[in-house]
Order: sequence, then C-alpha cells, then structure tokens
Amino acid sequence: MPIDRADREGSTTHDTIIIGGGPAGLTAAIYAARARMDTLLVERTFPGGLMMISEYIENYPGFSNGVSGPDLCLAMQAQAEKFGAQVMLTDIQSVNLTGPEKIIRTSEGELKARTVIIATGARPRRLGVPGEKEFQGRGVSYCATCDGPFFKGKKLAVIGGGDTAVEDSVYLTRFADDVTIIHRRDRFRAAKIIQERALANPHINVLWDSVVQEIHGNPVVEQIKIKNVKNHDLTDLKVDGVFILIGQEPDTAFLADQVTRDSFGYIPTDAEMHTNLPGVFAAGDVRQKTLRQIVTACADGAMAATSAEKYLESLGL
Ligand code: NAP
Repeated sequence: MPIDRADREGSTTHDTIIIGGGPAGLTAAIYAARARMDTLLVERTFPGGLMMISEYIENYPGFSNGVSGPDLCLAMQAQAEKFGAQVMLTDIQSVNLTGPEKIIRTSEGELKARTVIIATGARPRRLGVPGEKEFQGRGVSYCATCDGPFFKGKKLAVIGGGDTAVEDSVYLTRFADDVTIIHRRDRFRAAKIIQERALANPHINVLWDSVVQEIHGNPVVEQIKIKNVKNHDLTDLKVDGVFILIGQEPDTAFLADQVTRDSFGYIPTDAEMHTNLPGVFAAGDVRQKTLRQIVTACADGAMAATSAEKYLESLGL
C-alpha cells in the first residue's frame, strides 16, 4: 500500500527537488505537486528562466494574440504554488546525486530529496572577443528585451543568425534608428517567417559572412572591428550597442561528473527524461534535444515529474 505522500509532514527529505524555475521546472512542479509529492523548486534568481526576458511569445498554444513571457511565467508559478509546490531562491554550491538520497548543498544549507529534476536550462553563449567582457552593461548586451529600450535613436549591431538574433533585431528597431545584423555565414538559421520580417524592415541591414573581432569604446561601446571571413577584409563600424545573440550553453557545470553530459554539456535522457542516475531526471533546454521551445520544455517537465512519481512508486513510496 503506497504511503500517502502528503502525510509525510516533518520529513526533511523532499519527494522531489526541481533545480531551475523555467517553463520545464515550473511545469514539473505543477505535475509533481498535483501528484501530491512534497515538491521544492530551487531557483537562483527568479522563476521563469529565459521566458522572463521574452517580451512577446506568439507560438505558445492557446494565446492567439501572443502572451508576455513574464505573464506566462507568473501564471505557471501561481499554478505550481496553488497545488502546494514551494519555491526557494538560493544558489546551489554542489550536489551529490549518486545515492538513493540526493543531497543539494546551497548557500542556505543542505537540502535532501528522493528524486531530483534538473531543469537549469541554458545561458547566453559568449563571443569571446576583446572588449566583450569589459563593455558588458556598457553597450554589450545578451538580452534585447532587457536592454533594447536604452538605445532610443541609436545605432546597434546584432550578432547571430538564429531565431533570437533575427527576431530581436526587428524588436530593437522599435528603439534604435539603425540595426546591423552581423552573421558569420551567407544565410540565416532563423525560421523563414522571422527572416522575412527582418529583411523587409528598412531599419535593418545585414553583413553576411562577417564576424566581430574587437569591441572598442570609452567609456561605453563606440565602435566594432568586423572581419569578412571570405575575403578577410577588416572594417570598422560605429555603433552604440552590440547585442550578442548567438545561442545558449547549458547550465550543468555544477553537476561535475555525476550526470552524463554530451560534449556541449547537454544531458542525454530517454523519452521519459531519465538520466544515467536512478531518481535523477532532466527536462527542458538543459536536455540534449533538437527543439528548444517553451512548449517542449513544458512537455519535458510534465514527463519528468511523472517519471519521478513512478520512481517513488517503484520504491513503495
Ligand atoms: P541558435 O538557433 O543556436 O542560433 C545561434 C546563431 O548564432 C546561429 O546563427 C549561429 O551561426 C550563430 N553563432 C553561434 N556561435 C557563434 C559565434 N561564436 N560567432 C558568431 N555567430 C555564432 O540560437 P537562438 O537563435 O538563440 O535560438 C535558440 C533556440 O530558441 C532555437 O531552437 C530557436 O528556434 C528557439 N527560438 C525560437 C524563437 C521563436 O520561435 N520565435 C525565438 C527565439 C529562439 P550558424 O547559423 O552559422 O550556426
């Protein structure tokens, strides 16, 4: 006879700890809490992940007029908390996930759980050129939604050719007079509909086959050096800001060697979100997968929580 999980009050070991509060983590929290699991979601800053910096989401089903990222995130968090999930804001220092009791060391102390769902997502990839670090926050940005409004009437460069770079270039023309997309190849990776909007925008021009080599300024960004990768020509472009929108890297370094990761740091799972460790699941952008979207993150979160529930049942819990 399974023990009623809701009755295990006073236990210091949670049924599940979800690490990361993006759409995958929040959906896992909704499903786990609804399954009457003692659910704790641990997040470093504020729940929502990359959703929190998405001004407008038009491809999440059910919102024909689009929805703001923060609104969607707050609704997911409220839904999880309504079912009893707890949210804790703290920094994770290290983990020990190999045994039956999972240990998570945070700046607030040690947490214990029977299962762990890793939903830490991914963070912006760096370009790695001189000036990038020095001018971060002084003209170099990784988030158009966060920093775009600071560039009213200015001239901007956007680096990248994926959905984020091309879509956000259009968004940035709400503020900037002039946006130059600098892309290392001769075609975009972005979806066709997104490309069409950017290429039709009179405030956007594109430098193909080009990479940024240096970022200069004093005390804020003033100029970038660009190299054409085909003819090796070097040119200088005067800009007030550089938006580096070249994708993300998974946030998995804290796992050390405990959970198997691929060469990019993403976690391989099976279709039920199992990792290589019993009782440890991964969901969302942190997982090795081909489509990283809010809707796929939510699906992963639901599956991971259901698998965690089945795992507890297999232990008679
Ligand atoms: P992405 O799809 O990985 O694209 C990254 C872009 O940056 C690529 O064009 C890549 O060039 C370029 N790049 C990577 N490293 C670079 C470097 N070191 N120097 C110069 N350029 C570099 O990343 P994303 O655009 O952030 O999108 C991430 C995911 O979110 C995708 O699955 C995307 O579909 C999704 N997303 C969807 C929407 C939407 O549906 N509305 C909006 C935003 C994001 P190459 O093309 O040469 O590789």
